[in-house]
Amino acid sequence: MGNPQAGEATLEEQCVARNMRMTEQRRVIARVLEAASDHPDVEELYRRASAIDPRISLSTVYRTVNLFEEAGLITKHDFKDGRARFEQNPDEHHDHLIDVRSGKVIEFRNEEIEAIQELIAKKLGYKLVDHRLELYGIPLKTDTPKD
Ligand SMILES: [Zn+2]
Repeated sequence: MGNPQAGEATLEEQCVARNMRMTEQRRVIARVLEAASDHPDVEELYRRASAIDPRISLSTVYRTVNLFEEAGLITKHDFKDGRARFEQNPDEHHDHLIDVRSGKVIEFRNEEIEAIQELIAKKLGYKLVDHRLELYGIPLKTDTPKD
């Protein structure tokens, strides 16, 4: 793994570079994934892809995202709401905060957390090579009207 060009090439180009057979339907799904910033699940990807090409089926979307994931081009997330969600591998690492009420996913990066995690791994005798951090929260603002 570790394609040095990954940050510059589009998802479609990365697929082609890996000698993946790119049908028109796979290209549409790749473009939909690339355009998404909200970590969509397969159903949502299907809605978006089939709006572009109505011949695309839900099972094609399933097969295609699995293919892209196995190739290491996209990341699958489990945000504990029972549906797998996908995002194109980011150029730079980030973590996620999930609003458990709305399901909204907020991306963040915190250098202190990054440093602490490396320190913890080091203390345990490891060099940190990867991590995932998910925060689950509810909005601080309440819906109760003030009186
Ligand atoms: Zn993300």
